[in-house]
Formats: sequence, C-alpha cells, structure tokens
Amino acid sequence: MSHKPLNEPSFRESVDLMFNRAVKLLDLSPGLEEKIRVCNATYTVRFGVRLRGKIHTFTGYRAVHSEHMEPVKGGIRFATSVNQDEVEALAALMTYKCALVETPFGGSKGGLCVDPREWDAHEMEQITRRFAYELIKRDLINPSQNVPAPDMGTSEREMAWIADQYNRMHTTDINAKACVTGKPLNAGGIAGRTEATGRGVQFALREFFRHSEDVARTGLEGKLDGKRVIVQGLGNVGYHAAKFLSEEDGCKVVAVIERDGAVMRPQGLDVEAVRQHIMETGGVKGCPNADYTELGNSVLEHECDILIPAALEGVINLSNAHSVRAPLIVEAANGPVTAGADDILRQKGTVIIPDMYANAGGVTVSYFEWVKNLSHIRFGRMQRRQEEARHQLIVDELERLDRYLGDAWSMSPGFKEKYLKGADELELVRSGLDDTMRIAYQSMREPWHTREDVSDLRTAAYMVSIDRVAQSYRAKGL
Ligand code: GLU
Repeated sequence: MSHKPLNEPSFRESVDLMFNRAVKLLDLSPGLEEKIRVCNATYTVRFGVRLRGKIHTFTGYRAVHSEHMEPVKGGIRFATSVNQDEVEALAALMTYKCALVETPFGGSKGGLCVDPREWDAHEMEQITRRFAYELIKRDLINPSQNVPAPDMGTSEREMAWIADQYNRMHTTDINAKACVTGKPLNAGGIAGRTEATGRGVQFALREFFRHSEDVARTGLEGKLDGKRVIVQGLGNVGYHAAKFLSEEDGCKVVAVIERDGAVMRPQGLDVEAVRQHIMETGGVKGCPNADYTELGNSVLEHECDILIPAALEGVINLSNAHSVRAPLIVEAANGPVTAGADDILRQKGTVIIPDMYANAGGVTVSYFEWVKNLSHIRFGRMQRRQEEARHQLIVDELERLDRYLGDAWSMSPGFKEKYLKGADELELVRSGLDDTMRIAYQSMREPWHTREDVSDLRTAAYMVSIDRVAQSYRAKGL
C-alpha cells in the first residue's frame, strides 16, 4: 500500500498538472487545451446481485475522456479502491497513451468496487455479467464505440464473460467479438495479449538502451545486460516484465515488492519461483533463497539501476521521492509517480520512462486483437505458407551452392530451419509491438533532445500526444 501524504493532489489532478506542464509548451488555439484536458463523461451505476441469500449492491464506473477517435478504449479494473477520480485519471492516460503509440482510439476506463478475492468464480461471473449488462445497455461496451480490456483485478476470464454477455444482447452483430479485448484465444483473443504489457516494458527498455545519449542521462553505462532491477508488484505486468528482462536480457531482478513485503537477492531472484510462491501462499514471505522484509515500500528506496513500479498509482510520492535512489524509473503501472514526486525526481536528474509509453504494450496488442476480430481472420493465415515456399526457393539454391562448393562453403547450423519457418500469430504480434514501441520512443525522444525547454520524457510524451489529439480535433473543425 502507498503512504500518499494527504496534502498531495488527487490522481486526476496529478495527471492534469502533468498535462498543464506540457501544454504550456505547445501553441494550441484558445479553449482547445481545456477541451482536450477534461473528461467528457463518467457514467456511474449501482446495481444489485443476489448472492449468498441476500442482495449485494455494487458501484461501477465507465469514464470516457476523449472521443476524438472512436471507439474509445481502456481497461476495466476490479478493486475496492476504485472511485470516480481514479477512473477519470486512468481514462485521460488512455487518451494520451493511444495517441502516443498510434492506436486509433479515444481514451476510456472503467472500474467496479469489488474485492475479487471475496467471491468465488461463479459469483464473480454473476457480478461481471451484471455490470457488463448495465454498460452494454448504454453502448458503453460496443465494438464501434467503447471497447474495454483487462486491468488490475481482471483478466481474460472476465473478458470472456463480457464478450458472451454482449453476444447474448446483440445476437446478430457479426462484429460482436470486437466489443472487448484481452479475451482468451479460444474466445476470439489473440496470441501474446496476456504478456503484452510486460513485453512492451521490455521493448521500451531495449529501445532506450539503443540510444547511448539517453542512457548517459541516467549516469548508467552499457547495455541492459547485468543491470539491477527492482520490481514493485508481480502481477501480470510486473511478472512478465521481470521474467523477460531476466531471462532474455541478462538483467538481475534484485528485489520484488509485493503486498506483504519484499524479497531480495543481490545475485538476482528466480522470477518464476517467486511467482510460484505468490500463487501458492498469497505473498512473498517465506520465498526460498531470498531475504525478506515486511517493510516492502522501503525497498523502493534501495540502490538499483532500474526501478519498475508495476502495481498501483501514487506509490512514489512526496513522502519517498527524495529517497528513491534508482537513476532510471520505468512506469509499468499507470500513474505510479505523483506530480509532486515527478518534480522532485526531475530536479534530482532521475530519468523516468513515463507510463503512457512504458505500459502501452497492452493497448497496442488490444488494437491487433480488435483488428483481428473485425477482419475475422487470424494474422498470418494467408501469407505463412507462401512465405515458407518462397524461402524454400532460396534454401534450395543455397543447397545447390553447398554441393557445388564442397568444403569451401556451407550453411550455418540451424539456418535452414530458422529461415524456412513462416511467422505465426505470436511472432507477428511481437514484431508489431516491437515496431510500435520503437517508433513511439523515437517520437517522444525528439522534443526531449531538440527543445531546450523540455527536460524530461514525460513532458515530451504529453507534447506528442496532445499535439496528435489537437490535430484530430482540428481536422474535425473544432
Ligand atoms: N488496461 C490496460 C491499460 O491500462 C489495457 C487497455 C486496453 O487494452 O484497452 O493500458
């Protein structure tokens, strides 16, 4: 849990403050700035579900921040802490995120005040379907208007229920599956969606480390290999980011912070084993081959190279920003650094790879899923074998050369198999995500490097996004 001081602005105000900092550096026509900043509408619903012999009333929200492009997009969060201010802040972040990674959506977010651990699967299904019913009835879930996805406390299970609920209410809509993303593969989902946000964090870091001038601003040197990483929150996003960075990029995950404390190991933790332990026991306490502390949040202040907050908003705030020692923070969560903390860290020279970029992998692959649903065909189905046949032509020629040249030349071991294999959906999704993350980073680093008045990546990211949203409004004649 965060210990956010009471004198800090709310999450939504914090997002607005960051927006204001950036918008001042742009030359927008009068009034457009406010039009972009404000949340267009927030729908609140209270509904009852009969469970365990009594009616329980739940409160849910769906905020629509900007409809400059439709459908609007953003996850649905299930947590007891959900409130209007939070969904509005998250909806605004969705607008900027989608603009930054060029997914053709406006921003939205939903939430339901519920503790998913309190109810069994059947009860959760009843609650989810009822919430979905309320939103579908008002076109707040709809393939062409508003397309939710998973967020904290929800996963592909809930998305499958929502998709089915929409289908029951729109039996003749041929595009019904596109009403929600993050569905299981067998219910119209796409390969690689579950890992997408964590994979995006990995691609973001890889791209950052391709630019040595950018790395130099952190005071770090070299490549990702060997970097010490602290991850806060080993949920879907934190787990995948930690797993990929440690298994594929040589990073050492030196600490994992969870609800019940933190585990540490200077030589690097076995991410898979920590995850397994959390699944079995509900926490990190007692995790083998690691030191444990109950004071999880104090570990945010430990020395490391890269700090990855991947859980709640506001965990780095006025109370601890001064003590954060990591030179590089990657915001895998939405809004983990408050506006006040952001000021402190900026002054200290900490480089922050901002949320709207760092965690955009989820919505990027959601976009691929939505397109797949609308096109009614799996990616690669038409091209894969044709690609393999063309590759076969080259391999045949190389084999001929091989025979002709004898010992003087031969194909490298494994080349033939690797080259021959056409890309499947997962590979195509990862390639599309990688490309998206690289291009978005480059557009964001441009103002960071070329403008004297832009000293951080967050302001740069906001500028790129706001400018794109403004262009879209201008094109509409607003
Ligand atoms: N909830 C995720 C996010 O905050 C994914 C949203 C989506 O895929 O629409 O970006």
